[in-house]
Amino acid sequence: MTAAWQQQVSLKPYNTFGIDVRARYFTQAHDDEQARQALAEAAERQVPVLVIGGGSNLLLTRDIDALVLHMASRGRRLLSDDGERVVVEAEAGEPWHPFVQWTLAQGLSGLENLSLIPGTVGAAPMQNVGAYGVEIKDVFAGLTALDRETGELRDFTLQECAFGYRDSLFKRNPGRWLILRVRFALDRTLRAHLDYGPVRQRLTEQGVGQPTAQAISDAICSIRREKLPDPAELGNAGSFFKNPVVTVELADKIRSAYPTVVAYPQAGGQVKLAAGWLIEQAGWKGHRDGDAGVHRLQSLVLVNYGQASGAQMYALAQKIQADILERFGVELEMEPNLY
Ligand code: FAD
Ligand code: NAP
Repeated sequence: MTAAWQQQVSLKPYNTFGIDVRARYFTQAHDDEQARQALAEAAERQVPVLVIGGGSNLLLTRDIDALVLHMASRGRRLLSDDGERVVVEAEAGEPWHPFVQWTLAQGLSGLENLSLIPGTVGAAPMQNVGAYGVEIKDVFAGLTALDRETGELRDFTLQECAFGYRDSLFKRNPGRWLILRVRFALDRTLRAHLDYGPVRQRLTEQGVGQPTAQAISDAICSIRREKLPDPAELGNAGSFFKNPVVTVELADKIRSAYPTVVAYPQAGGQVKLAAGWLIEQAGWKGHRDGDAGVHRLQSLVLVNYGQASGAQMYALAQKIQADILERFGVELEMEPNLY
Protein backbone atom coordinates (compact mmCIF):
# COMPACT_ATOMS: atom_id res chain seq x y z
CA MET A 1 0.00 0.00 0.00
CA THR A 2 1.27 3.50 -0.79
CA ALA A 3 2.24 5.47 2.32
CA ALA A 4 0.61 8.91 2.50
CA TRP A 5 2.71 12.06 2.15
CA GLN A 6 2.69 14.43 5.11
CA GLN A 7 3.40 18.13 4.63
CA GLN A 8 5.67 20.59 6.47
CA VAL A 9 7.15 17.99 8.78
CA SER A 10 9.86 18.96 11.28
CA LEU A 11 13.00 16.91 10.67
CA LYS A 12 14.29 17.49 14.22
CA PRO A 13 13.58 13.89 15.31
CA TYR A 14 15.12 12.58 12.07
CA ASN A 15 18.64 14.02 12.34
CA THR A 16 21.09 13.40 15.18
CA PHE A 17 22.28 17.02 15.17
CA GLY A 18 18.72 17.87 16.24
CA ILE A 19 18.44 20.65 13.65
CA ASP A 20 14.89 21.93 13.34
CA VAL A 21 14.19 22.36 9.63
CA ARG A 22 11.05 21.37 7.76
CA ALA A 23 10.48 18.93 4.94
CA ARG A 24 7.95 20.15 2.39
CA TYR A 25 6.77 16.54 2.07
CA PHE A 26 7.63 13.48 4.17
CA THR A 27 6.87 9.78 3.82
CA GLN A 28 8.26 6.41 4.88
CA ALA A 29 9.02 3.22 2.95
CA HIS A 30 8.53 -0.05 4.81
CA ASP A 31 9.26 -2.22 1.78
CA ASP A 32 10.50 -2.12 -1.83
CA GLU A 33 7.07 -1.42 -3.20
CA GLN A 34 6.50 1.65 -1.02
CA ALA A 35 9.95 2.96 -1.95
CA ARG A 36 9.27 2.43 -5.63
CA GLN A 37 5.83 4.08 -5.42
CA ALA A 38 7.15 7.08 -3.51
CA LEU A 39 9.82 7.65 -6.17
CA ALA A 40 7.30 7.20 -9.00
CA GLU A 41 4.81 9.61 -7.44
CA ALA A 42 7.55 12.17 -6.80
CA ALA A 43 8.68 11.89 -10.43
CA GLU A 44 5.10 12.38 -11.63
CA ARG A 45 4.65 15.45 -9.40
CA GLN A 46 8.16 16.69 -10.29
CA VAL A 47 9.17 16.81 -6.64
CA PRO A 48 12.84 16.10 -5.81
CA VAL A 49 13.51 13.31 -3.28
CA LEU A 50 15.92 13.14 -0.36
CA VAL A 51 16.36 9.62 1.05
CA ILE A 52 17.30 9.39 4.73
CA GLY A 53 17.98 6.60 7.20
CA GLY A 54 18.91 7.41 10.79
CA GLY A 55 19.95 10.99 9.96
CA SER A 56 23.30 10.50 11.74
CA ASN A 57 25.42 11.76 8.87
CA LEU A 58 23.44 14.81 7.79
CA LEU A 59 23.86 18.55 8.24
CA LEU A 60 20.58 20.22 7.34
CA THR A 61 21.15 23.92 6.71
CA ARG A 62 17.73 24.90 5.37
CA ASP A 63 14.15 23.71 4.92
CA ILE A 64 14.09 20.80 2.50
CA ASP A 65 11.96 21.70 -0.52
CA ALA A 66 11.55 18.05 -1.50
CA LEU A 67 9.98 14.75 -0.51
CA VAL A 68 12.01 13.31 2.38
CA LEU A 69 11.78 9.52 2.07
CA HIS A 70 12.62 7.82 5.36
CA MET A 71 13.75 4.22 4.92
CA ALA A 72 11.88 2.14 7.51
CA SER A 73 12.13 -1.33 5.96
CA ARG A 74 12.97 -4.18 8.35
CA GLY A 75 14.25 -7.74 8.02
CA ARG A 76 17.51 -9.66 8.44
CA ARG A 77 18.30 -13.21 7.42
CA LEU A 78 20.99 -15.85 6.86
CA LEU A 79 21.34 -16.46 3.10
CA SER A 80 23.98 -19.20 3.00
CA ASP A 81 26.16 -21.13 5.42
CA ASP A 82 29.02 -23.47 4.46
CA GLY A 83 29.89 -24.16 8.09
CA GLU A 84 32.62 -21.52 8.13
CA ARG A 85 31.50 -18.55 6.05
CA VAL A 86 27.94 -17.24 6.40
CA VAL A 87 26.28 -14.66 4.17
CA VAL A 88 23.71 -12.47 5.96
CA GLU A 89 21.39 -9.84 4.50
CA ALA A 90 19.52 -6.94 6.08
CA GLU A 91 16.96 -4.45 4.79
CA ALA A 92 18.01 -0.80 4.42
CA GLY A 93 15.93 0.52 7.33
CA GLU A 94 17.39 -1.90 9.91
CA PRO A 95 19.20 0.05 12.62
CA TRP A 96 22.93 -0.71 12.29
CA HIS A 97 24.03 -1.49 15.85
CA PRO A 98 21.18 -3.92 16.65
CA PHE A 99 21.98 -5.64 13.33
CA VAL A 100 25.64 -6.00 14.39
CA GLN A 101 24.52 -7.42 17.75
CA TRP A 102 22.24 -9.89 15.95
CA THR A 103 25.17 -11.18 13.83
CA LEU A 104 27.24 -11.66 17.01
CA ALA A 105 24.36 -13.57 18.61
CA GLN A 106 24.42 -15.92 15.59
CA GLY A 107 28.08 -16.69 16.48
CA LEU A 108 29.37 -14.67 13.50
CA SER A 109 32.33 -12.32 13.47
CA GLY A 110 33.41 -9.58 11.11
CA LEU A 111 31.30 -6.60 12.18
CA GLU A 112 32.33 -6.40 15.86
CA ASN A 113 34.71 -3.44 15.36
CA LEU A 114 31.82 -1.51 13.80
CA SER A 115 29.69 -1.70 16.95
CA LEU A 116 27.71 1.30 18.20
CA ILE A 117 27.80 3.24 14.93
CA PRO A 118 24.42 4.97 14.67
CA GLY A 119 22.24 4.90 11.55
CA THR A 120 20.90 2.24 9.26
CA VAL A 121 22.15 -0.71 7.24
CA GLY A 122 21.12 0.99 3.98
CA ALA A 123 23.30 4.04 4.58
CA ALA A 124 26.39 2.09 5.69
CA PRO A 125 27.69 1.58 2.13
CA MET A 126 27.32 5.29 1.35
CA GLN A 127 30.57 6.17 3.10
CA ASN A 128 31.88 2.61 3.59
CA VAL A 129 31.48 3.04 7.36
CA GLY A 130 34.62 2.30 9.28
CA ALA A 131 36.02 2.24 12.80
CA TYR A 132 38.92 0.69 14.70
CA GLY A 133 40.68 -0.61 11.60
CA VAL A 134 37.69 -2.25 9.87
CA GLU A 135 35.46 -0.92 7.09
CA ILE A 136 32.34 -2.61 5.70
CA LYS A 137 34.23 -3.27 2.46
CA ASP A 138 36.27 -5.88 4.41
CA VAL A 139 33.19 -8.11 4.85
CA PHE A 140 30.93 -6.81 2.10
CA ALA A 141 29.15 -9.43 -0.04
CA GLY A 142 26.88 -7.29 -2.23
CA LEU A 143 23.84 -5.04 -2.17
CA THR A 144 20.61 -4.48 -4.05
CA ALA A 145 19.65 -0.97 -5.11
CA LEU A 146 16.94 0.70 -7.10
CA ASP A 147 18.13 2.84 -9.99
CA ARG A 148 16.22 6.07 -9.46
CA GLU A 149 16.67 7.04 -13.10
CA THR A 150 15.26 3.87 -14.66
CA GLY A 151 13.33 2.18 -11.82
CA GLU A 152 15.38 -1.02 -12.39
CA LEU A 153 16.70 -3.20 -9.56
CA ARG A 154 20.42 -3.82 -9.64
CA ASP A 155 22.80 -6.00 -7.63
CA PHE A 156 26.26 -4.54 -6.90
CA THR A 157 29.44 -6.50 -6.21
CA LEU A 158 32.26 -5.29 -3.98
CA GLN A 159 34.26 -4.01 -6.96
CA GLU A 160 31.28 -2.18 -8.44
CA CYS A 161 30.72 -0.20 -5.22
CA ALA A 162 34.22 1.38 -5.58
CA PHE A 163 34.62 1.77 -1.83
CA GLY A 164 37.29 4.14 -0.53
CA TYR A 165 38.05 5.87 2.77
CA ARG A 166 34.57 7.14 3.83
CA ASP A 167 33.63 6.98 0.17
CA SER A 168 31.79 4.90 -2.44
CA LEU A 169 30.18 5.01 -5.85
CA PHE A 170 26.93 5.91 -4.08
CA LYS A 171 28.41 8.88 -2.26
CA ARG A 172 29.92 10.15 -5.51
CA ASN A 173 26.56 9.88 -7.34
CA PRO A 174 24.09 11.37 -4.87
CA GLY A 175 20.47 10.80 -5.79
CA ARG A 176 21.11 8.00 -8.30
CA TRP A 177 20.76 4.83 -6.19
CA LEU A 178 18.31 3.89 -3.47
CA ILE A 179 19.94 1.08 -1.47
CA LEU A 180 17.31 -1.50 -0.52
CA ARG A 181 19.31 -4.27 1.22
CA VAL A 182 22.94 -5.14 1.96
CA ARG A 183 24.80 -8.47 2.31
CA PHE A 184 27.86 -9.36 4.39
CA ALA A 185 30.09 -12.47 4.39
CA LEU A 186 30.88 -13.25 8.03
CA ASP A 187 32.99 -15.92 9.70
CA ARG A 188 32.35 -18.57 12.31
CA THR A 189 36.03 -18.32 13.31
CA LEU A 190 37.15 -14.97 14.72
CA ARG A 191 39.89 -13.04 12.95
CA ALA A 192 40.39 -10.33 15.52
CA HIS A 193 41.50 -6.78 14.66
CA LEU A 194 42.87 -5.44 17.94
CA ASP A 195 45.78 -3.25 16.88
CA TYR A 196 43.90 -0.04 16.42
CA GLY A 197 43.68 2.66 19.06
CA PRO A 198 43.04 1.46 22.59
CA VAL A 199 41.14 -1.78 21.83
CA ARG A 200 43.74 -4.31 23.02
CA GLN A 201 44.49 -2.22 26.10
CA ARG A 202 40.81 -2.06 27.04
CA LEU A 203 40.45 -5.85 26.73
CA THR A 204 43.54 -6.31 28.94
CA GLU A 205 42.08 -3.92 31.52
CA GLN A 206 38.90 -6.00 31.43
CA GLY A 207 40.94 -9.17 32.06
CA VAL A 208 40.04 -10.66 28.66
CA GLY A 209 42.93 -12.78 27.35
CA GLN A 210 41.38 -14.62 24.38
CA PRO A 211 38.58 -12.29 23.27
CA THR A 212 35.43 -13.43 21.51
CA ALA A 213 33.82 -11.21 18.87
CA GLN A 214 31.24 -10.22 21.50
CA ALA A 215 34.01 -9.25 23.95
CA ILE A 216 35.63 -7.05 21.28
CA SER A 217 32.26 -5.45 20.56
CA ASP A 218 31.71 -4.82 24.29
CA ALA A 219 35.19 -3.28 24.66
CA ILE A 220 34.63 -0.99 21.66
CA CYS A 221 31.20 0.03 22.97
CA SER A 222 32.74 0.95 26.34
CA ILE A 223 35.48 3.05 24.67
CA ARG A 224 32.97 4.80 22.42
CA ARG A 225 30.59 5.56 25.30
CA GLU A 226 33.44 7.27 27.16
CA LYS A 227 34.72 9.32 24.24
CA LEU A 228 31.74 10.18 22.07
CA PRO A 229 28.70 12.28 22.93
CA ASP A 230 25.40 10.38 22.75
CA PRO A 231 23.23 12.15 20.14
CA ALA A 232 20.20 11.50 22.36
CA GLU A 233 21.79 13.87 24.89
CA LEU A 234 23.91 16.22 22.76
CA GLY A 235 23.26 16.73 19.04
CA ASN A 236 26.12 15.62 16.79
CA ALA A 237 26.93 13.68 13.62
CA GLY A 238 30.06 11.90 14.84
CA SER A 239 33.34 12.90 13.21
CA PHE A 240 32.69 16.14 11.36
CA PHE A 241 35.83 16.06 9.19
CA LYS A 242 37.60 13.24 7.40
CA ASN A 243 41.18 12.55 8.38
CA PRO A 244 43.22 14.32 5.69
CA VAL A 245 45.62 12.23 3.64
CA VAL A 246 48.62 14.39 2.68
CA THR A 247 52.01 14.07 1.00
CA VAL A 248 55.04 12.91 3.00
CA GLU A 249 56.61 16.36 2.37
CA LEU A 250 53.71 18.19 3.98
CA ALA A 251 53.57 15.73 6.90
CA ASP A 252 57.33 16.20 7.47
CA LYS A 253 56.97 19.98 7.35
CA ILE A 254 54.20 19.87 9.96
CA ARG A 255 56.24 17.44 12.10
CA SER A 256 59.23 19.77 12.12
CA ALA A 257 57.06 22.51 13.65
CA TYR A 258 54.87 20.16 15.74
CA PRO A 259 56.87 17.03 16.69
CA THR A 260 53.85 15.39 18.38
CA VAL A 261 51.63 15.43 15.25
CA VAL A 262 49.54 12.22 14.99
CA ALA A 263 50.31 10.74 11.57
CA TYR A 264 49.86 7.27 10.03
CA PRO A 265 51.74 6.23 6.86
CA GLN A 266 49.38 4.94 4.14
CA ALA A 267 49.82 2.52 1.28
CA GLY A 268 50.86 4.57 -1.75
CA GLY A 269 53.36 6.72 0.14
CA GLN A 270 50.97 9.26 1.62
CA VAL A 271 50.32 10.06 5.26
CA LYS A 272 47.01 10.22 7.14
CA LEU A 273 46.86 12.97 9.76
CA ALA A 274 44.43 12.83 12.68
CA ALA A 275 42.07 15.74 11.96
CA GLY A 276 41.10 15.80 15.64
CA TRP A 277 44.72 16.43 16.63
CA LEU A 278 45.04 19.35 14.18
CA ILE A 279 41.82 20.93 15.48
CA GLU A 280 42.80 20.47 19.11
CA GLN A 281 46.30 21.83 18.46
CA ALA A 282 44.73 24.93 16.90
CA GLY A 283 42.83 25.54 20.13
CA TRP A 284 39.30 24.72 19.02
CA LYS A 285 38.55 21.96 21.54
CA GLY A 286 35.59 23.04 23.68
CA HIS A 287 35.09 26.24 21.59
CA ARG A 288 31.49 27.55 21.40
CA ASP A 289 29.79 29.99 19.04
CA GLY A 290 26.40 30.24 20.74
CA ASP A 291 24.91 26.74 20.63
CA ALA A 292 27.29 25.54 17.92
CA GLY A 293 30.40 24.04 19.44
CA VAL A 294 33.39 21.72 19.32
CA HIS A 295 33.04 18.87 21.80
CA ARG A 296 35.09 19.35 25.00
CA LEU A 297 36.58 15.82 24.88
CA GLN A 298 36.67 15.01 21.18
CA SER A 299 37.60 17.91 18.91
CA LEU A 300 36.61 16.05 15.73
CA VAL A 301 32.97 16.15 16.84
CA LEU A 302 30.93 19.33 16.38
CA VAL A 303 27.96 19.55 18.71
CA ASN A 304 24.65 21.36 18.91
CA TYR A 305 24.09 22.53 22.49
CA GLY A 306 20.38 23.00 21.80
CA GLN A 307 19.14 25.63 19.41
CA ALA A 308 21.95 25.92 16.83
CA SER A 309 20.78 26.11 13.24
CA GLY A 310 22.43 24.05 10.51
CA ALA A 311 23.77 27.29 9.03
CA GLN A 312 25.43 28.15 12.37
CA MET A 313 26.99 24.68 12.56
CA TYR A 314 28.23 25.07 9.00
CA ALA A 315 29.66 28.55 9.71
CA LEU A 316 31.66 27.15 12.63
CA ALA A 317 32.90 24.29 10.43
CA GLN A 318 34.05 26.75 7.78
CA LYS A 319 35.93 28.82 10.38
CA ILE A 320 37.76 25.70 11.53
CA GLN A 321 38.56 24.68 7.94
CA ALA A 322 40.02 28.13 7.18
CA ASP A 323 42.11 28.14 10.37
CA ILE A 324 43.54 24.62 9.77
CA LEU A 325 44.40 25.57 6.19
CA GLU A 326 46.21 28.70 7.34
CA ARG A 327 48.10 27.06 10.22
CA PHE A 328 49.02 23.69 8.71
CA GLY A 329 48.38 24.02 4.95
CA VAL A 330 45.88 21.15 5.27
CA GLU A 331 42.40 21.11 3.74
CA LEU A 332 39.77 19.47 5.92
CA GLU A 333 36.88 17.85 4.08
CA MET A 334 33.49 17.62 5.76
CA GLU A 335 32.19 14.12 6.39
CA PRO A 336 28.43 14.62 6.93
CA ASN A 337 26.23 15.15 3.88
CA LEU A 338 25.26 18.82 3.58
CA TYR A 339 21.75 19.84 2.53
P1 FAD B 1 21.71 9.29 7.02
O1 FAD B 1 22.42 10.31 7.84
O2 FAD B 1 20.24 9.20 7.13
O3 FAD B 1 22.10 9.49 5.49
C1 FAD B 1 23.46 9.63 5.13
C2 FAD B 1 23.54 9.72 3.60
O4 FAD B 1 23.13 8.48 3.02
C3 FAD B 1 22.60 10.78 3.01
O5 FAD B 1 23.24 11.34 1.90
C4 FAD B 1 21.37 9.97 2.57
O6 FAD B 1 20.72 10.58 1.49
C5 FAD B 1 21.99 8.65 2.16
N1 FAD B 1 21.15 7.46 2.40
C6 FAD B 1 20.62 7.05 3.57
N2 FAD B 1 19.97 5.88 3.40
C7 FAD B 1 20.09 5.54 2.09
C8 FAD B 1 19.63 4.45 1.29
N3 FAD B 1 18.93 3.43 1.82
N4 FAD B 1 19.92 4.46 -0.04
C9 FAD B 1 20.63 5.46 -0.59
N5 FAD B 1 21.08 6.54 0.11
C10 FAD B 1 20.83 6.56 1.44
N6 FAD B 1 30.50 6.72 10.68
C11 FAD B 1 31.54 5.88 10.46
O7 FAD B 1 31.87 5.58 9.31
N7 FAD B 1 32.23 5.34 11.51
C12 FAD B 1 31.92 5.61 12.80
O8 FAD B 1 32.56 5.09 13.70
C13 FAD B 1 30.84 6.52 13.06
N8 FAD B 1 30.53 6.87 14.32
C14 FAD B 1 29.53 7.76 14.55
C15 FAD B 1 29.24 8.13 15.88
C16 FAD B 1 28.24 9.04 16.13
C17 FAD B 1 27.94 9.41 17.59
C18 FAD B 1 27.48 9.59 15.08
C19 FAD B 1 26.35 10.54 15.36
C20 FAD B 1 27.76 9.24 13.76
C21 FAD B 1 28.80 8.33 13.48
N9 FAD B 1 29.13 7.95 12.17
C22 FAD B 1 30.14 7.07 11.95
C23 FAD B 1 28.40 8.54 11.03
C24 FAD B 1 27.07 7.81 10.68
O9 FAD B 1 26.54 7.18 11.82
C25 FAD B 1 27.26 6.77 9.59
O10 FAD B 1 27.76 7.37 8.42
C26 FAD B 1 25.94 6.05 9.23
O11 FAD B 1 26.18 5.02 8.31
C27 FAD B 1 24.87 6.98 8.66
O12 FAD B 1 23.66 6.24 8.59
P2 FAD B 1 22.24 6.95 8.60
O13 FAD B 1 21.22 5.89 8.38
O14 FAD B 1 22.07 7.77 9.80
O15 FAD B 1 22.36 7.86 7.29
P1 NAP C 1 41.23 7.55 18.00
O1 NAP C 1 41.26 6.11 18.41
O2 NAP C 1 41.43 8.59 19.07
O3 NAP C 1 42.28 7.79 16.84
C1 NAP C 1 42.45 9.11 16.31
C2 NAP C 1 42.60 8.98 14.82
O4 NAP C 1 43.78 8.28 14.53
C3 NAP C 1 41.44 8.24 14.24
O5 NAP C 1 40.75 9.16 13.46
C4 NAP C 1 42.04 7.10 13.44
O6 NAP C 1 41.77 7.19 12.04
C5 NAP C 1 43.53 7.27 13.57
N1 NAP C 1 44.14 6.00 14.03
C6 NAP C 1 44.16 5.51 15.29
N2 NAP C 1 44.86 4.35 15.33
C7 NAP C 1 45.28 4.12 14.07
C8 NAP C 1 46.05 3.09 13.47
N3 NAP C 1 46.56 2.08 14.19
N4 NAP C 1 46.29 3.16 12.14
C9 NAP C 1 45.80 4.16 11.41
N5 NAP C 1 45.06 5.16 11.93
C10 NAP C 1 44.81 5.16 13.25
O7 NAP C 1 39.87 7.87 17.22
P2 NAP C 1 38.40 8.08 17.74
O8 NAP C 1 37.95 9.43 17.34
O9 NAP C 1 38.25 7.67 19.18
O10 NAP C 1 37.59 7.02 16.86
C11 NAP C 1 37.84 5.64 16.98
C12 NAP C 1 37.44 4.96 15.67
O11 NAP C 1 36.04 5.14 15.45
C13 NAP C 1 38.14 5.53 14.45
O12 NAP C 1 38.39 4.49 13.53
C14 NAP C 1 37.14 6.52 13.88
O13 NAP C 1 37.26 6.69 12.50
C15 NAP C 1 35.81 5.86 14.25
N6 NAP C 1 34.78 6.90 14.46
C16 NAP C 1 34.22 7.46 13.37
C17 NAP C 1 33.24 8.43 13.51
C18 NAP C 1 32.58 9.01 12.29
O14 NAP C 1 31.58 9.72 12.43
N7 NAP C 1 33.08 8.76 11.12
C19 NAP C 1 32.83 8.83 14.77
C20 NAP C 1 33.44 8.25 15.86
C21 NAP C 1 34.42 7.28 15.73
P3 NAP C 1 40.44 6.65 11.29
O15 NAP C 1 39.37 7.58 11.65
O16 NAP C 1 40.83 6.74 9.87
O17 NAP C 1 40.19 5.26 11.75
